[in-house]
Amino acid sequence: MATVRITAAPRSVEFNKLGFVGNEQKYIAQAIGNAHISGDGQFTKLCHQFLEEQFGVQKALLTTSCTHALEMAAILLDLKAGDEVIVPSFTFVSTVNAFVLRGAIPVFADVHPDTFNLDENKLEALITPRTKGIVVVHYAGVACEMDAIRIIANRYGIPVVEDNAHGLFGKYKGQYLGTFGVMATQSFHETKNFTCGEGGALLINDPDYIERAEIIREKGTNRSRFFRGQVDKYTWVDIGSSFLPSDMLAAFLYAQFEAQEWIQNKRQRIWTYYNDALQGWAMDNGVQLPYIPDHCEQPYHMYYLVMPSLEHRTTFIEHMKQRSVGCVFHYLPLHASEMGEKFGGKLGDCPVTEWVSDRLVRLPFHNQLTPFEQEYVVDAITEFSV
Ligand SMILES: *Cc1c(COP(=O)(O)O)cnc(C)c1O
Repeated sequence: MATVRITAAPRSVEFNKLGFVGNEQKYIAQAIGNAHISGDGQFTKLCHQFLEEQFGVQKALLTTSCTHALEMAAILLDLKAGDEVIVPSFTFVSTVNAFVLRGAIPVFADVHPDTFNLDENKLEALITPRTKGIVVVHYAGVACEMDAIRIIANRYGIPVVEDNAHGLFGKYKGQYLGTFGVMATQSFHETKNFTCGEGGALLINDPDYIERAEIIREKGTNRSRFFRGQVDKYTWVDIGSSFLPSDMLAAFLYAQFEAQEWIQNKRQRIWTYYNDALQGWAMDNGVQLPYIPDHCEQPYHMYYLVMPSLEHRTTFIEHMKQRSVGCVFHYLPLHASEMGEKFGGKLGDCPVTEWVSDRLVRLPFHNQLTPFEQEYVVDAITEFSV
């Protein structure tokens, strides 16, 4: 054991690293052997089946990214110029951009100071007669308060879309994330729990959206219906784009899906290691650790610290960098960004978002992370005092 430890002692720890689970190359070779590497081949179908059966969604469609799945959702909501969409300010740009591309106006909601999820208590005040959509993001895969959000959305008849990029396998009150909204979007980017490099999926729970979603994903044609023999020729019927990934990417992704138990167990161990090792240090230094409400099951997407101030975070990231540990901050407040300001946003609008955006830092977290590396990271962290 001692020799293993010496040879395995890390000198640096990357923030993210691609993890192979075993069958990726074999399945890609199989996709090539099938002589079908465009979209909707054998492996895309297997991925669709996996997502539909695992999560019990009406329809799953692989896309080229979560960004593109969000763009499909925005088209499906039939947004027109001047329609408003409520989005959290603490999220990735794509959550908002997809709707802005359709001419919609983003209305930024602030987040909770413990989960950093859209604050449902502030939601109703943002609704106007022009509100045509509510987009929620389950930050770190910890569920938003979906009961309260659904009650408000239903009262006004506004569809909810879940940006579930972090949340595959997460649950709210025993129910899988991605099954609450009329639609949900997933990301299989290299930084997410399951990956094919660049990829995503649209999960559809309201069957009324299925037929049009297939058309939009196939360049605005009814090609899917043609292949099923439901129409005798395929033609241009709607707006759309090319949102299908190559079956080689689906092959990579399917290998990862097959290893879901291994991946999720591994990530649980990584998360729990950090959380156990850092309690005392966090308490002593006034650092806030992740909060998981009892009724939420998280998919172990990330581990973060909330430092007491921006200055502490800056010196902390520098301290870790000197020890060759990659720690990164996360979202900048969208309402106060250059683009957000064009929609009337300004500093002060979403104080919790601004507060957390200055203080949150993410620790190395990927499927290849070893206990030795984690020990090295934790040692480096605990050498830092506020
Ligand atoms: C990663 C991410 C996206 C974008 O995913 P891509 O697949 O890279 O387009 C969107 N929303 C959230 C919340 C994300 O974390």
